[in-house]
Amino acid sequence: MINKLKTTHNLLDKELKVLLVDNSVNEELFKQADSVRREVYGDAVYLRGLIEITNYCKNGCYYCGINCTNRKIERYRLTKKEILNCCKQGYGLGYRTFVLQGGEDVFFTDEKICDIICTIKQEYPDCAVTLSLGEKSRGSYQAFFNAGAERYFLRHETATESHYKKLHPDNLSLENRKKCLFDLKETGYQVGSGFMVGSPYQTVENLIEDLRFLQKLKPDMIGIGPFIPAKNTRFEKLKNGSLTVTLKLIAILRLMFPYALIPATTALGTVSPEGRELGLKAGANVVMPNLSPVGYRKLYSLYDNKICTGEEAAECRGCLERRVQNAGYRIVTDRGDVKKSI
Ligand code: SAH
Repeated sequence: MINKLKTTHNLLDKELKVLLVDNSVNEELFKQADSVRREVYGDAVYLRGLIEITNYCKNGCYYCGINCTNRKIERYRLTKKEILNCCKQGYGLGYRTFVLQGGEDVFFTDEKICDIICTIKQEYPDCAVTLSLGEKSRGSYQAFFNAGAERYFLRHETATESHYKKLHPDNLSLENRKKCLFDLKETGYQVGSGFMVGSPYQTVENLIEDLRFLQKLKPDMIGIGPFIPAKNTRFEKLKNGSLTVTLKLIAILRLMFPYALIPATTALGTVSPEGRELGLKAGANVVMPNLSPVGYRKLYSLYDNKICTGEEAAECRGCLERRVQNAGYRIVTDRGDVKKSI
């Protein structure tokens, strides 16, 4: 079955289900995923400097620690100067992609975002700008693209309608989230999507539906990570998503989408101290060190016990260098564009 997935990049639902539930396949699955990753990207690991620009959000996603109903957290937003300072530090450390991520904060109008993108591109023309700012109109996506942003990351979170409703309030819809993703593609972005693993009420069938949706979207980047409960949310008492299931899905994604850029996420490193290394060995080829000013990092609390909230950018960089090397890979100073459309 793993061979079939490797050669045809596809499997039947029932075969995917076996792969997901049977742990005796894991070693072979990870090995094959790693061999495909090495064929396409060698041992290179790309860096994305993550700048968490605001924790204000107008949305009430039930799982997310910075959702608008959480009155208990302190809110912050970075100034343009602070954002540019993060880029300066990041550039010096070899980052050639900056990811601006945040809640859906109405303070950051299109005009403000475009101005920030333009300035980053002027000062660092050899760097890519990735946005992860949520659902916007097609016109806004176009404006950001015209300003110089070339990648957009928007996880679909779950591709099953009934499951989506259990995780989000009524004013948010899976239909619009999916529409945004196709708008982004048509605008010309390199698009990233993905989902949480082990989110409340999730079934194996839901995960298979997530894979099917990604096959339709054909994204350039796929970010997945375990669900982790967040304080002051209705899911605060629930359990983490599984490390093993997340690793298996990374491997399956690598075999389905040989060219995809797949991060070993912070959430993966949060559920296990070796999570990111294991992610790399299961087919991931990107890491996203935190570049946000240290003073704000704890406030960007999507979930509890998030790692890397106490270190300076340079420490983070050094720590990752060692981790990546120990896992058997090599960090490269490169924009790390997708090698070929899938
Ligand atoms: N507002 C942006 C950025 C969201 S934060 C957007 O809508 O895309 C980035 C990602 O963190 C989310 O897409 C979600 O998948 C993940 N996330 C949020 N809460 C989480 C939790 N409790 N556990 C794990 N991941 C979570």
